[in-house]
Amino acid sequence: MISLETAISILQDKIRGRVPTETIPVREAAGRILAADQKSKVNLPPFDKSAMDGYAILEDDPSETYRVVGVVSAGEPGIDKLEPGTTVKVMTGAPVPPGVGKVVMIEQAVEKDGYVQFEKPSASRHICKKAEDIAVGDTIVKAGARVGPLEISNLTGCGISTVEVSKPVRAAVIATGDELVDSPSDLGPGKIMNTNGPLLCELTRRWGLDVTLSEVLPDDPPKLTKAIQNALTRADIVLVSGGVSVGDFDYVPDAIRQCGLEIHISRVATKPGKPLTFATGEKGILFGLPGNPVAVYVTFHVYVLRAVGLLTGWTYEPKVFKIRLAKERRQKPGDRLAFVPSRITAEGLAEPVVYHGSAHINAVMGADGFLMIPAGIERLPAGAELKMMTFEEWSR
Ligand code: AMP
Ligand code: MG
Repeated sequence: MISLETAISILQDKIRGRVPTETIPVREAAGRILAADQKSKVNLPPFDKSAMDGYAILEDDPSETYRVVGVVSAGEPGIDKLEPGTTVKVMTGAPVPPGVGKVVMIEQAVEKDGYVQFEKPSASRHICKKAEDIAVGDTIVKAGARVGPLEISNLTGCGISTVEVSKPVRAAVIATGDELVDSPSDLGPGKIMNTNGPLLCELTRRWGLDVTLSEVLPDDPPKLTKAIQNALTRADIVLVSGGVSVGDFDYVPDAIRQCGLEIHISRVATKPGKPLTFATGEKGILFGLPGNPVAVYVTFHVYVLRAVGLLTGWTYEPKVFKIRLAKERRQKPGDRLAFVPSRITAEGLAEPVVYHGSAHINAVMGADGFLMIPAGIERLPAGAELKMMTFEEWSR
């Protein structure tokens, strides 16, 4: 058994190369990874503009009364020049003329017969200066960023309409096990629903992967080998669940070797996630994930998304933070790092949820993350500081 850290470094070492890139409209780029730094084509704001509805006056113009020489709304070109003793009424977003020192809010002005006086104008200038947010050529979003609503908004605002991005990483999902059925009407003695298939299909889809194949296979060595061979031709990453443990019918590791891949990882000292298999070869990358759904959920984030990152130039790390335990915890000391589904209380403390083990995916819905409890611990007092790991799904 190797440690989680060793497993991650093996993964980082063995994954080489990137998926190809393509240029697509920014508006269609959600979920994609940028292939190059993106630089602004515009200044933001593009001109000195008013931050308020009000009256623009020149810097150091001490007049008591100002003649109103015009009204400018947002979207109009504005006026070129202002004389001392005059003002132009400007709406929020409208350009202010050169030399303007401030915009006095409408609320502080009394206008009558084309003249305006100000009562206690506030010290604020209420002007957004040209290029104060972004100048032409500033880097807006870096290569390797995953495009989301904020990136789409910023890129569009900076005059960028197309971007070079990684093509979606193609994933094949293969659930293995004689006990698995996909329809409740096929449930019978000894059978269970295939929950890993839908879990992996949705996780991959959510992270921008293309699921090019999804199937359920019995524990049958020739069928497994054939299916993995086929999957490797259709996907960049093959995700197999089940069949990688030490049971009599765990044929997946043999099938992986039959397909010409080399297994780099087969046991990791985590609970869940011990029978984690990682293999690569000329034909592609394969993860053999443990059969139980909670293990699939954890290992997908801890390993598979990192691999997706390496293939696209993106960096994925589950979020890990320190938190204190709400109540004392007594447990059987384990020989592995345990991921314990836990919720965060209103007081900001961690409290493990009722959890029966790695088949109990239902428990994870009531959790906010996984407490990470090191091996060999029998008792943790209330207030003990631990690490907690969360994934983006929890902000669903
Ligand atoms: P295995 O790794 O094949 O020994 O499977 C470990 C446990 O996970 C067994 O109890 C399996 O029934 C269960 N399991 C395997 N695959 C799935 C799946 N696709 N959906 C739900 N449970 C599964
Ligand atoms: Mg099995």
